[in-house]
Amino acid sequence: MGFLDYAPAPESTSVLNLQKDYGLFIGGEFVDGHGSAFATVSPSTEEVIATVAEATEADVDKAVAAARKAYDKTWSRMSGSERGKYLFRIARILQERARELAVAETLDNGKPIRETRDVDIPLVAAWFFYYAGWADKLEYAGAGPNPKALGVAAQIIPWNFPLLMLAWKIAPALAAGNTVVLKPAETTPLTALLFAEICQQADLPAGVVNIVTGAGATGASLVAHPDINKVAFTGSTPVGRKIAQTLAGSSTKVTLELGGKGANIIFDDAAIDQAIEGVVSGIFFNQGHVCCAGSRLLVQENIHDDVVSRLQRRLSTLRLGDPLDKNTDIGAVNSKAQLARITELANSGDEEGANRWSAACEIPAKGFWFPPTVFTDVHTSHRIAREEIFGPVLSVMTFRTPDEAVAKANNTPYGLSAGIWTEKASRMLAIADKLRAGVIWANTFNKFDPASPFGGYKESGYGREGGRHGLFPYLESSDWTKGGR
Ligand code: NAP
Ligand code: MG
Repeated sequence: MGFLDYAPAPESTSVLNLQKDYGLFIGGEFVDGHGSAFATVSPSTEEVIATVAEATEADVDKAVAAARKAYDKTWSRMSGSERGKYLFRIARILQERARELAVAETLDNGKPIRETRDVDIPLVAAWFFYYAGWADKLEYAGAGPNPKALGVAAQIIPWNFPLLMLAWKIAPALAAGNTVVLKPAETTPLTALLFAEICQQADLPAGVVNIVTGAGATGASLVAHPDINKVAFTGSTPVGRKIAQTLAGSSTKVTLELGGKGANIIFDDAAIDQAIEGVVSGIFFNQGHVCCAGSRLLVQENIHDDVVSRLQRRLSTLRLGDPLDKNTDIGAVNSKAQLARITELANSGDEEGANRWSAACEIPAKGFWFPPTVFTDVHTSHRIAREEIFGPVLSVMTFRTPDEAVAKANNTPYGLSAGIWTEKASRMLAIADKLRAGVIWANTFNKFDPASPFGGYKESGYGREGGRHGLFPYLESSDWTKGGR
């Protein structure tokens, strides 16, 4: 053992009480699905965790009917303060079951327990507490007097923050008075199914929340269903584009939270060690499976070598391995398919002439893994500078002047996030003003708060989630519901 090696400190899985097979959650009950059931596996061991039902078009139809009935008969007739009580109750149960949810999420997704325990699940509860507070105050949200719910919302989420993305979708929708049908990602359905149990535990009226598991086809039939009033989608830009095409010309409201290629900009007056920590949390948090990741590092030319060598030294201390171990920094990549995509894009970096450096870590025999990797000598035309890798891979480029930093940062089809590292507040504000990104962090990165709106420009999508802005896409009396920003 080297001096930095730690003894194993695995989190116990005894807190889990999982079923072997999960059905669909429709009308307040678990029911059989009519598609082909599929397994959800742990990406760190490739072991099957549970079998999950696949919802067919007919199952999706039942779920939408249950949501419609609940909307008409119960939820739309309830006062905001009554709805708020259910949301507060759900938030409290989420806190009570936090440990169990963190373990389940780590098992199903592959992300380190340190992150699910300290980031994902606390934020999930915070989101429900925050929107619970809005349920009886909607007329003060800024969406006009007496704002009305839309009806039934169809919600589709990706695998990178499974329960957190569910919270971002369900909490504002319910607070605003809608009922929902949600489809989690095929590879990470587990915590959505535990959330269904929590809805039962909270005595949420049947049909207010429905969960349909399945893959892309299930999502597509949900989006195409004629009786939904709103689609909220988080995922890739290509699928977002398909959804926009399906809904073009219909009255269904849409919000799209899509991909990103965020720039993290370090000026030569920045506190370098602090910036290095921000770079690490910007791109190596959650194995880089973060839509708003700081995947492009723009460093002022005169400090480039210093920043890169300090970064490599820091990355050499990260521990990759069992995500359930409390000392693990880098967990497993979520799926074989995602690992193949990361590998292909990283190889294109080699082929196009960039310089690859990877932290020397032992890769476990089973599961899907990619070491923290940094590319230098990257040109703005390289694929690794333009395409979203969605993995622990950083592309480093340089700039000489603030104008060049802004031009390079904005040279992307995306516009979700950006970071600025400088000691000068005036520079922070001047640069932030010129960056075309929905979220801009200064001297920090990847910080989230339910009160703060989040969303993109350009191919990163439209609409905002979080804050009072996150209510508007679920309310009738607002231009925001038309997809504007
Ligand atoms: P994805 O392939 O677009 O999948 C997202 C969700 O859509 C999944 O539930 C997926 O089902 C479903 N889906 C697939 N095809 C569909 C179709 N034709 N119609 C309806 N639904 C369909 O994205 P991903 O690869 O899982 O997730 C990574 C992407 O999400 C990245 O680009 C990332 O940047 C983005 N993301 C954005 C944000 C944000 O807030 N802007 C947050 C997180 C992630 P299955 O996966 O089950 O097949
Ligand atoms: Mg899984």
